[in-house]
Amino acid sequence: MEPLPIAQEVRHLRPPVDSSALMHRQLLEGDFWRRIPAYANVSEEEFLDHRWQMKNTITKIEKLLHALEGLVSPAFIADAQAGFKRAPMAVRVSPYLLALIDWKNPYEDPLRRQFIPLASTALPDHPKLRYDSLNEQADAPVPGLTHRYPDKALFLALDTCPVYCRFCTRSYAVGPDTDQAELEKLSLKANKERWELIFRYIASRPELEDIVISGGDVYNLRADQISEIGNRLLDIPHVRRMRFATKGLAVMPQRILTDDEWFQALIQVVQRGRKMSKDVVVHTHFNHPNEITMLTKRALDRLHGEGVVVRNQTVLQRGVNDSFEVMHLLIKRLGYVNVQPYYVYVHDMVKGVEDLRTTVDTAIVLEKAIRGTTAGFNTPAFVVDAPGGGGKRIVHSYEHYDRTTGISVYTSPSVKPGQYFLYFDPIHLLPEAGQRRWADPAEHGKMIQEALDRAQANRR
Ligand SMILES: *Cc1c(COP(=O)(O)O)cnc(C)c1O
Ligand code: SF4
Repeated sequence: MEPLPIAQEVRHLRPPVDSSALMHRQLLEGDFWRRIPAYANVSEEEFLDHRWQMKNTITKIEKLLHALEGLVSPAFIADAQAGFKRAPMAVRVSPYLLALIDWKNPYEDPLRRQFIPLASTALPDHPKLRYDSLNEQADAPVPGLTHRYPDKALFLALDTCPVYCRFCTRSYAVGPDTDQAELEKLSLKANKERWELIFRYIASRPELEDIVISGGDVYNLRADQISEIGNRLLDIPHVRRMRFATKGLAVMPQRILTDDEWFQALIQVVQRGRKMSKDVVVHTHFNHPNEITMLTKRALDRLHGEGVVVRNQTVLQRGVNDSFEVMHLLIKRLGYVNVQPYYVYVHDMVKGVEDLRTTVDTAIVLEKAIRGTTAGFNTPAFVVDAPGGGGKRIVHSYEHYDRTTGISVYTSPSVKPGQYFLYFDPIHLLPEAGQRRWADPAEHGKMIQEALDRAQANRR
């Protein structure tokens, strides 16, 4: 056969993108941790060692402030000290995470914002905020198992994490007690007897096909505990799907890279599941593109090499990822390292983090801008986890949304038929007229009643 003659030049409808502009492929590499004086002499081998990361994880405010001395101003240190005093979450920061923060610009840094509270930026809580805003305890037939949806349940295996996030939805249980005396945390320890009750409950419910194993964070389970939970659940005939939920990949990829015992325990459960035609995956939690480095890619390549599906859940936070540029870069970067962006959550109504919440409108605008920029299966669903236990609802699916009062009303026919669920935008982001109404407590009930009446009238 004659080769086909090339008759034409390649025709472009628009110019090719310069590869230097494809920022999602430019991952931080090298010994970036040496920028931190305390880690200036730490070798790559040490820094990659998960035991070194755990041993050097900072769990005392004094230690954290000590590590930051010389890096930040004394005023910043005092601000953080006062910030922790009023915070519902204890301090816990891995060296890896500390090294990813730009300490030249600590007030603006998106990772600092998520883990280190400042008194100077704190805002008063919305009057409708409370602990356990998702009502996970009310929907728990046994301690640490929330059975809200028809065919899936949430198993809180333990109450510790490799780091503590300021904005944690489960501040009612996760981590040690803090100076916030109001809050005595529910204990959900890694405890065989408690787990036994949970396995028995799941076994007794033939409709349960899908178990989310979370906490706390499964990263803090030992290898034998991963095997125990994974295999016990696989042994229940009607359990078809499991997800191990961990923020670990975002804050300590070292465990995947160098803790072979733990990694193999996870892989064994995934592969045993595959032989049984059951699906075992990992769900993780990246919020900002700076959390994805070359080390992250190496950890995810290791999981991908073993055929492990990884999906991501992001919390939408003001000043962290509430712009198109950042959210788009995050989503592209997740896709690049083979993580499927699954959900973006409108920030739960958690106490003590009003500076991080944003409006439902922000989520709606972002979703519109993001959709179409990449594969549909790499496009996350933007959801509100309906306060009071309505479950996750697509942000656009409200029955009514008043951008002046910031009240949105959702229904959840499959989970709690007939009920209404309210989400409240942060007051400081409302138009003047809305802020004025919230300033008057006598208006609160009226605004809520108006919203419910409108929702009822709109009902389809
Ligand atoms: C999020 C969640 C699940 C899992 O829901 P998906 O939408 O399938 O990710 C299950 N149970 C509870 C209580 C949850 O909050
Ligand atoms: S890792 Fe998850 S469970 Fe742990 S503190 Fe952060 S948000 Fe909460």
